Amino acid sequence: MPPGPLEFGVRDLPADEPMLVRRSVPAAVFSGCLEGEGAFAAPVDVELELRACGEEILCRGRVSGEWTLECTRCLAPLRCAFQARFDAALQAIDGRADASEDVRQALILAIPSLRYCRQDCKGLCPQCRTNLNEKDCGCASAVLSGRFKTTKRGNHHA
Ligand SMILES: [Zn+2]
Ligand SMILES: [Zn+2]
Repeated sequence: MPPGPLEFGVRDLPADEPMLVRRSVPAAVFSGCLEGEGAFAAPVDVELELRACGEEILCRGRVSGEWTLECTRCLAPLRCAFQARFDAALQAIDGRADASEDVRQALILAIPSLRYCRQDCKGLCPQCRTNLNEKDCGCASAVLSGRFKTTKRGNHHA
């Protein structure tokens, strides 16, 4: 198997100082991270500070790039920059260690669980799935005016 883009030989590292590595990694290497969430919009920039420590490589990492996620409310594609940091101890196997799994974990943790195309995104109509940013389908006002009479309660503290 050819070496991965983030694979390092323990013996290639200087003994008494950290080695700095910068790689632009093809997004395809990490595409699984965003399954069902979106896609990378550019290669992923990875910066690693590697330090040999016996059979381990201590790794301090920084990952950045751009991805396209779906707006939580209206599902519109939303391109945004991301940045993540991580620390890991990479186990060397046959003298080689690979940071890609740790980068993958850092990327997954960096995915915001809530993200909006704009602060006042109105989302999709739960009934007819119309994007309410684009037009008002009328469902909401029909439901609200029907419900308001029976469930309105006087708990306004303002
Ligand atoms: Zn939205
Ligand atoms: Zn509707």
